[in-house]
Amino acid sequence: MHVINTIAAYRQARAQIGTLGFVPTMGYLHDGHLSLVRHAQADCGTVAVSIFVNPTQFGPSEDFAAYPRNLERDLDLLRNEGVHIVFAPSSDEIYPQGFTTYVEVENITTRLEGAARPTHFRGVTTVVCKLLNIIQPTRAYFGQKDAQQCIVIRTMVRDLCMPTNIVIRPTVREPDGLAMSSRNTYLSPDERQAAPVLYRALLAAQQQYTQGERQAAALRQAMQHILDAEPRAQVEYISAAHPHTLHELDQVDEAGVLLSLAVRIGTTRLIDNILIEGKT
Ligand code: AMP
Repeated sequence: MHVINTIAAYRQARAQIGTLGFVPTMGYLHDGHLSLVRHAQADCGTVAVSIFVNPTQFGPSEDFAAYPRNLERDLDLLRNEGVHIVFAPSSDEIYPQGFTTYVEVENITTRLEGAARPTHFRGVTTVVCKLLNIIQPTRAYFGQKDAQQCIVIRTMVRDLCMPTNIVIRPTVREPDGLAMSSRNTYLSPDERQAAPVLYRALLAAQQQYTQGERQAAALRQAMQHILDAEPRAQVEYISAAHPHTLHELDQVDEAGVLLSLAVRIGTTRLIDNILIEGKT
């Protein structure tokens, strides 16, 4: 496995590779990340993974400094998976002095996560654009766990005619339903016990839908009801939105619905979603 820290060194290594799968991450890897790696490997044969905690996607009062990091452990995990290249640049390599160009996707970035974290997606699209330009992958793999991020990145790649296929893979969960996340490590044992309430809320709304409910307010209410019963859960938003535009729905139609929520358990902010795919 080649561990590469500079863009120049990566470009030399890239010249030797044909089809390449790419998994961008912020490290502190778990089975959600590794499922993307395995899928990329099965699809493409050769895989590059980036590990970069991207400062521009964190707001000023967010957890950039505290975000968990353990490069040695991550490298061991990736070595075990047979990953070909790990790209782990410094902040200065990605944002050198005088850096002043940002990539911004409009409209869909103002809703849900974008409403709660106003500069977040500008940071995400800027770094993903840069990483795709550096890595030059055939396909890049992202997790449905970050549903809005998937839509935003697909939009950017389409709008900027970037020559990479974007592949979205399902959310990997703990046995009790909690979506795997590097941030789960912030949870105290007590909070960890409460955290599966997010998925239970989503399942309750999904069940309503399966039973024929098409009023979005009723789906949101089903989620709210489950969350109300967990005193450690503080809801930031509960959403039943159009899966492409992310507008809140009145009525679910053949386009389906993205059920999503952001909830604080103690000081830890968790997100999760279930996509009910439509026929369009
Ligand atoms: P992160 O390191 O949190 O930026 O995540 C890197 C990639 O892994 C993103 O595409 C995430 O959506 C994806 N990912 C994170 N958690 C999960 C999960 N539980 N299941 C599937 N993919 C995930």
